[in-house]
Amino acid sequence: MELSKRQEAILEIVKKEGPITGEQIAERLSLTRATLRPDMAILTMSGLLEARPRVGYYYSGKTPGKVIAEKLHRIKVGEIKSVPVVVPEHCSVYDAVVTMFIEDVGTLFVVREGGLLEGVVSRKDLLKTTLGGQDIHKLPVGVVMTRMPNVITVGPEDSVWIAAKKLISHEVDALPVVRPAGEGAKSTELEVIGRLTKTNITRLFVELGEGN
Ligand code: ADP
Repeated sequence: MELSKRQEAILEIVKKEGPITGEQIAERLSLTRATLRPDMAILTMSGLLEARPRVGYYYSGKTPGKVIAEKLHRIKVGEIKSVPVVVPEHCSVYDAVVTMFIEDVGTLFVVREGGLLEGVVSRKDLLKTTLGGQDIHKLPVGVVMTRMPNVITVGPEDSVWIAAKKLISHEVDALPVVRPAGEGAKSTELEVIGRLTKTNITRLFVELGEGN
């Protein structure tokens, strides 16, 4: 994180003299408290400084890298997930391609009744099929998908960091966001409740970069 000259100066004062009030920091810099307010907000929101009522500001001792890491571990998959696009196993490869175009996604989740996860079908799975010369109007996606239990998933309470690690280490573009299936289902069954893709992670990255 890039700090302005004034924010660096504030940080130094608080490191040396903290806990220190906003009034006192303003005095040291010969500025008004109002002028300092945006800087104090940035420094506390970023986690570099902490503020306690009636005590003042003190240095958290965290490096900017550590602050970013903490943030990524704190943000949950459920907060940034997208709506899943699902098809049934008997859906034809042709219809799956059409669905991808209409819904503007690169990965479809294959589910059965109750939204229970059966598999994942990606762009390349479908492309590969078209090379095989089979009749894509007749061939069901169930034949070309990656099937459970080989599907990599995340839960809504997992951190976005865990999700990003899975996307990278398994070299896939999307993860179904799942929860254990409800009553009447087997304990291993998972219900699809969202979609977590590289786009979600990139969007979050942009938002964090903008200081949101
Ligand atoms: P693309 O085929 O567009 O490059 P991926 O890299 O996501 O997309 O898919 C590569 C392969 O991994 C495909 O065979 C696909 O079925 C499989 N795959 C995609 N997502 C997952 C997942 N979450 N878990 C397991 N396998 C997956």
